[in-house]
Amino acid sequence: MAEIRVQQLHKAFAEFTAVKDSSFTVNDGEFFCLLGPSGCGKTTTLRMIAGLELPTSGQIFLGGEDVTRKRASARDIAFVFQMFALYPHMNVRQNIAFPLVSQGMARAEIKQRVLDAARTLQITELLDKSVSGLTSGDRQRVALGRAIVRQPLAFMMDEPLGALDAEFREMMCEELRNLHDRLGATTVYVTHDQREAMFMADKIAIMNQGVIEQLGAPQEIYERPATVFVADFMGSPSMNFIPFEAALASGATSATIGAAPVGLPALCEAVPARPLLYGVRPEHGSLTGDSAFRAEVLGTEYLGTCQIVTLATAPGSTLRAKIDVKTPVRRGDHVGLAFDVAQITLFDQASGRSIRTLRDDVPVGAPRARGVLHG
Ligand code: ATP
Repeated sequence: MAEIRVQQLHKAFAEFTAVKDSSFTVNDGEFFCLLGPSGCGKTTTLRMIAGLELPTSGQIFLGGEDVTRKRASARDIAFVFQMFALYPHMNVRQNIAFPLVSQGMARAEIKQRVLDAARTLQITELLDKSVSGLTSGDRQRVALGRAIVRQPLAFMMDEPLGALDAEFREMMCEELRNLHDRLGATTVYVTHDQREAMFMADKIAIMNQGVIEQLGAPQEIYERPATVFVADFMGSPSMNFIPFEAALASGATSATIGAAPVGLPALCEAVPARPLLYGVRPEHGSLTGDSAFRAEVLGTEYLGTCQIVTLATAPGSTLRAKIDVKTPVRRGDHVGLAFDVAQITLFDQASGRSIRTLRDDVPVGAPRARGVLHG
């Protein structure tokens, strides 16, 4: 397995720029997710790493070697697509063996590798079956088998679970991550689904319009979003943004929104008067009688383990709070709102970038236990 290093990668299709000066490193053995909305340049980035698309400029290193101009077949990278095509006239064993047969590998070696791959994927009992009668999950396992049997330097996966229904997808997420841990394989995984990325990734790159907006571990990205785009994209419901205007001193720990004082993590630098956004995740807001920050309850959504309360904070402005189901709350109630100050992110409205606070110098805690999904 190998480290992948991408340097100032740029891809233009005629007048349109799909990927803009992307730089990142996928460490040896890391599960790396490219995450973002449709059309943001994830697949184009992946295809350039795999050698299926030539960059307009920039460099790609695989295991320290510059492979930017190397053909895909010379890169020792296996690709797993969403629309995995199995050969219908071959059985499972023949499908998995296919890439090795194409390479002209010795029969005994092929036999052993196919058996090892099938054991890893727990599909040995399917080896002599026809692929036509397989479930979609088993078909995806066979497609994975065809990738891992090659024992490549790295895996590229482009929304491999996109065609599966929700229940299967969750199960396959777990299987994929376990498989990754067993193989120790460097993996680049493309998805538009934040839950998949949060569940599986060691590191996530959030892309928007061809640009990587933030790179980091799932918890870091969730708790310390670098931009409004990232804060809005991650989390369900997404972060609330309360607009206000202020000049703030260096070290300030409070501001005023409307007439209500609100807390801030201490600012690193003074902020001259300008429009700002007070970013608060739904789970970091709570209802309290004595807060000066007032709101009217517009509705509640009972979710079993919590309830999502929609509140009007000013005419035309709403925010959502995720609170305990035991808190009694009804439409039309007038309530006070309190925020968990340590979890607030302040953004500059014009640039959309977060404003540095002293909290940012403290590393985000150990990664959350895998399998804990927000939303
Ligand atoms: P999706 O999940 O929808 O595939 P994505 O983030 O993977 O989204 P890309 O497939 O990388 O996005 O495409 C990025 C942009 O580049 C899109 O606007 C797409 O239309 C454009 N694009 C991709 N390939 C080509 C091409 N061969 N010619 C012209 N434009 C292209």
